[in-house]
Amino acid sequence: MKRMLIANRCEIACRIIRTAREMGIDTVAVYSDPDRCAAHVSLADRAFPLGGDTSASSYLSVAKLLEAARQGRADAIHPGYGFLAENADFARAVESAGMVFVGPTPDAIETMGDKLHARELAGKAGLPLLPSATVKDKQSTDSKAAAKLGFPILVKAVAGGGGRGMRVVRNKTELTDAVAAARREAAAAFGDGRVYLEKYIADPRHIEVQVFGDGRGNVVDVGERECSVQRRHQKIIEETPSPFVSTRLRERLCAAALELAKAINYRGAGTVEFIVDQNSEFYFLEMNTRLQVEHAVTEMTASVDLVAWQLEVASGGGLPRLVNHPRGHAIECRVYAEDPAAGFVPTAGRVLRVEHPTGPGIRVDSALFDGWEIPIEYDPMLAKVIAWGSDRAQALGRMRHALSEFLIVGIDTNIRFLIDVIDDPLFAQGGFTTNTIEQHYHDWKPSDGQALSVATTAAALLMSSTPSLVTSSAAGGNKTTLVGPWQTLGGWCMGRAGVNRGD
Ligand code: ADP
Ligand code: ADP
Ligand code: MG
Repeated sequence: MKRMLIANRCEIACRIIRTAREMGIDTVAVYSDPDRCAAHVSLADRAFPLGGDTSASSYLSVAKLLEAARQGRADAIHPGYGFLAENADFARAVESAGMVFVGPTPDAIETMGDKLHARELAGKAGLPLLPSATVKDKQSTDSKAAAKLGFPILVKAVAGGGGRGMRVVRNKTELTDAVAAARREAAAAFGDGRVYLEKYIADPRHIEVQVFGDGRGNVVDVGERECSVQRRHQKIIEETPSPFVSTRLRERLCAAALELAKAINYRGAGTVEFIVDQNSEFYFLEMNTRLQVEHAVTEMTASVDLVAWQLEVASGGGLPRLVNHPRGHAIECRVYAEDPAAGFVPTAGRVLRVEHPTGPGIRVDSALFDGWEIPIEYDPMLAKVIAWGSDRAQALGRMRHALSEFLIVGIDTNIRFLIDVIDDPLFAQGGFTTNTIEQHYHDWKPSDGQALSVATTAAALLMSSTPSLVTSSAAGGNKTTLVGPWQTLGGWCMGRAGVNRGD
């Protein structure tokens, strides 16, 4: 593998480019029209425009990606996550074009991408499954099947992902509408409107296991991740090890995940997701056949680079050895361009100023820079802050400080919201379930002090912005003066519109 195209954008594209560079692999970036100035474009060794301003006409266009790879003379393609990462046809097209697809075999992607098929395989491999039923589209039959499962139940998309195409049904009367709504959402999002019914677990944990295979029968697990802090079935904060999982439960979860990976002779990075109920009973949810957004917490506690492992295995190498694993505790917060005080609506706009946090144990995966115009058409995730500590308390403390140091001026983000969650005593106890955000934070507002501090920060930034030394020739020699906003803003005065400072 000499040159790799990254079929993705921004944060994850940059993260992959960095590892490729470390391994001496040339990188090829691709970009849509709104992403002309994006960070991954300048970070890669070369970059090709895909044209188009929608995902469909750029990062999801197999033909355009293959053409860019041909022009860039890439011999491999890394899909990142999202977009085409779990698209078996794309993986097949890459391989047919004579390139390496950095990921599992197209068959594995296809099998696991179909949740019903994945359940069947998991069941055969001995993993515990939640009771489920197929949807027959006959009201009386479906209603009977739902009643047999017992309410509440969850309508789920067979091709689902990213928490979409899912509806909770609490009683018989809601069933028909919920099925129709889930079907519509799934058809729009995945081009596949098939749905099924699954027993809904109240206040569960989402725990997943990172697995890795070499495609030649060897598989390892790299521990679990706790991902119960979710909104609308989408993860916001993840950590490892899970504060909820006992040593015994961890062993059982990892053993189950390995059974499934072995059963399909898995190649590359994968994640087996489980739902764990209040009694610590666990059930298989799905397998994600790609690198996960939250992979960094595993990297921190396992002291490994999972992208390097992916590239190693994709080049025909074996599985690297895990030494001294796990070590300490790691936690990740996803920073989104959204307004949590207004129902979490996505935001867009220009980043006027960004300062990334740093310090012992802090890692920031980001593609933000001063002046970056955030397009509205893509995933609102801006960056990930990852904190490592020798124990959970230290990791949380470091995360708390890192979030408060993270300065993004110009757009609304969820940083204040994340700080409140990290400060929540229930979170400190490891007590969050997948429903806690919906239950306790649905009407979250920043405290007045917080809102004020944003205004103050913005004003302070303006006042301190780029003062420069100006030398002028005056009678008696050169005179050097510091020129900043105090000299250039004229009659502008903070808090007193229209009042001239006089000097
Ligand atoms: P996706 O492919 O969208 O990630 P998953 O099956 O992994 O779908 O589920 C996403 C989230 O939805 C889970 O993390 C969990 O919070 C919730 N969920 C899924 N299935 C159930 C269930 N049977 N009971 C309760 N919550 C569930
Ligand atoms: P997980 O979070 O478990 O990895 P998801 O099902 O949530 O899995 O899918 C990955 C998430 O990453 C999706 O929300 C997707 O929209 C988002 N995503 C995909 N590509 C990017 C990207 N380049 N930058 C930021 N987020 C992305
Ligand atoms: Mg999932």
